[in-house]
Amino acid sequence: MKVKTATLTPGRWIYVCPCGFRYTACRVVRTSGKWMVYCFKCKQQTGKYYKIMDERLEFEENFNNKLNCTCFTTIRLHHPVKNAIGAVKQIYLKGIWKGNAKIMHAATLTLDRINLPMAKLDTGLMPEECRRLIKSLNRRHPINWATQPLDYLVLEYIKESKEPSLF
Ligand SMILES: [Zn+2]
Repeated sequence: MKVKTATLTPGRWIYVCPCGFRYTACRVVRTSGKWMVYCFKCKQQTGKYYKIMDERLEFEENFNNKLNCTCFTTIRLHHPVKNAIGAVKQIYLKGIWKGNAKIMHAATLTLDRINLPMAKLDTGLMPEECRRLIKSLNRRHPINWATQPLDYLVLEYIKESKEPSLF
């Protein structure tokens, strides 16, 4: 079997396969045409590479005081590129920069799968209240919550970037 390849330019990239298997973002330093278009999980060559931008991740509230910890969680609408493992986010609380954090873990689930440890650490709330909160935070989108995939993310601050008070 001839494996397809793709050319990637410098930056952070993620391979997204239709089977949903989660790859970790790769950092490309030099342009190269040797990146395999192949999924080790499903053995298909139907995936695609997407460039990941370092972008803002906004928080309206600092639930459970979580943004002051080294690691914290967030539950967002599923997006395989924006929420890729290895992506770096600029964390903002009410418009104020808190630091840059890297996605260390991502799991896809539906709203009903949010359990007590997830809900408590993410929001300080019980699962049912946490689900209500997620619905209200995403009220601008028309969503079927029975099937809408969500990404449960664990982020960790990149040490040299944390807290503007250091400068
Ligand atoms: Zn696959």
